[in-house]
Amino acid sequence: MRKKIVAGNWKMNKTLDEALSLTSEVVHMINDEVLGDVEVVLCVPSLYLTTLSKYVENAPKIILGAQNCHEKASGAFTGEISAPMLKAIGIPYVILGHSERRQYFAETGAQLAAKVDSALENGLTPIFCCGESLEQRQNEDFIEVVKTQISESLFHLSAEQLQAVVIAYEPIWAIGTGLTASAEQAQDMHAALRAHLAGKYGQAVADSISILYGGSVGAGNAAELFACPDVDGGLVGGASLKSRDFTEIVKARQ
Ligand code: PGA
Repeated sequence: MRKKIVAGNWKMNKTLDEALSLTSEVVHMINDEVLGDVEVVLCVPSLYLTTLSKYVENAPKIILGAQNCHEKASGAFTGEISAPMLKAIGIPYVILGHSERRQYFAETGAQLAAKVDSALENGLTPIFCCGESLEQRQNEDFIEVVKTQISESLFHLSAEQLQAVVIAYEPIWAIGTGLTASAEQAQDMHAALRAHLAGKYGQAVADSISILYGGSVGAGNAAELFACPDVDGGLVGGASLKSRDFTEIVKARQ
């Protein structure tokens, strides 16, 4: 069964005090009535995961996630964290392959395939990000670019493994720019990606995968985006740093 998910990607923002306040506000504002059947994932800086776990323990549908993990389980990789470490502190989600990781940390499709494997081996749900740059969007084959990102990093999985993955389509030109994809652009891409999954795994499996849209999702445009039949929720950056805006986005997903 495909889930409705609204995930916040805090990126490298908030001091500890600010993180505690924001989480308390979110837990307070996003009560059962607001949530409905939506799952909310807060992808916070890893440093805060243990502390924030206590803040969300009484809110079963508000779940924590990390923003990245290493593909290896352990070893001499200064500054990194691994999937077994996230598992050990009870974190269920991890964002993988965000365009900022691909761009600034040179993450490749093959490396992301290994990260996805490590996450799945440790029972984590990867939120696998894909999306084209502005330059790629201007070429006719921009849909192929995103399909290739998916094949490269996910198509080695079994159908059962794939069903434990959430996909987030995030056009790079829409991230942090205030320039959102139109509902039509989002739906076209999501439908194309679902068809791509169906081509490899069959329609039933493709229909069971949650595909989130990300890129300048805000309180003002969330409802229109979420009304698209193939958009199952959102991966929200800037607006997830403000409890009121984030709550409105969650309400829009109901
Ligand atoms: P944005 O970021 O909502 O600030 O555009 C989305 C993301 O990068 O996940």
